[in-house]
Amino acid sequence: LKKLKDGLFKTRKNITEKLNSVVNSFKSIDEDLFEELEEILITSDVGVETTMRLLDGVRKRVKEEKVSDPKDVIKLLKDEILKLMTENVEPQKDEYPMIIVVMGVNGVGKTTSVGKIANRYKKAGKKVLIAAADTFRAAAIEQLEVWSNRVGVDIIKHQEGSDPAAIIYDAINAGKSRKTDVILCDTAGRLHNKKNLMEELKKIFRIIDREYPEAHREVYLVLDATTGQNAITQAKVFREAADITGIVLTKLDGTAKGGIVIAIKSELNIPVRLVGVGEKIDDLQEFNAEDFVNALFA
Ligand code: GDP
Repeated sequence: LKKLKDGLFKTRKNITEKLNSVVNSFKSIDEDLFEELEEILITSDVGVETTMRLLDGVRKRVKEEKVSDPKDVIKLLKDEILKLMTENVEPQKDEYPMIIVVMGVNGVGKTTSVGKIANRYKKAGKKVLIAAADTFRAAAIEQLEVWSNRVGVDIIKHQEGSDPAAIIYDAINAGKSRKTDVILCDTAGRLHNKKNLMEELKKIFRIIDREYPEAHREVYLVLDATTGQNAITQAKVFREAADITGIVLTKLDGTAKGGIVIAIKSELNIPVRLVGVGEKIDDLQEFNAEDFVNALFA
């Protein structure tokens, strides 16, 4: 919790401090106040659509509850954010055997996140197998191997350029015979060729459908919080190729763009499941909306 709070330092400065100073400069609640709040939220990567939605909720409550002190608007806004973050979100089912497909553009922290996720399940006493199915760069496969050694889990890999679906196939078979609880698949990271990306992912899911229908399936998209609204654009492309079940949001530590967490939930309606708060092996936390909102408004 402390790590999340520390990590959100810049975001808090960017959003909450500005919000506080604006409400303190107003004597009554009027449209000028809402306009200023709107600007702060939009420039903090919360996104236009989401900002409008949040502020409409606040306006409604101001009216209904006859709120008159501008300072009370902060509390209402916090409530609205929490409501938005938690609506229609079911906790993730931890059912085994599980297969987790991890996707994301190169550089977002995908490999590191796969390593950290492997570590989480390993520490929870689960038997984990990593499938190195992002075969585009040899370095990526090597880097994943370093993580598998560090965590102490098996890895299935082929050569650079080989067919990702074939690796998934091998991993599933190895996983079944070794009685693995969690197969973690590191997959595609190239967005510039959307057609290839879609075909590669479709093929992977066909293999999983056919070879491992009994496994509980999670599909994670890794997004980099420091890219702000660009993360939303990436998610929209990946969403066309796969049924994403959760977001892993990396580099939340030290960015001022933490408002993106709110936009992701609101615009994509995909829950953020895990957040990266540093480069170390333990710097990946389960996302809890309440903790996030409390850290944001701390
Ligand atoms: P990939 O190309 O998507 O596989 O990205 P990598 O896993 O190689 O990560 C790219 C860089 O981001 C590395 O230097 C990581 O240490 C760093 N990184 C990954 N996750 C986080 C995070 O949550 N916080 C911080 N500060 N750095 C991270």
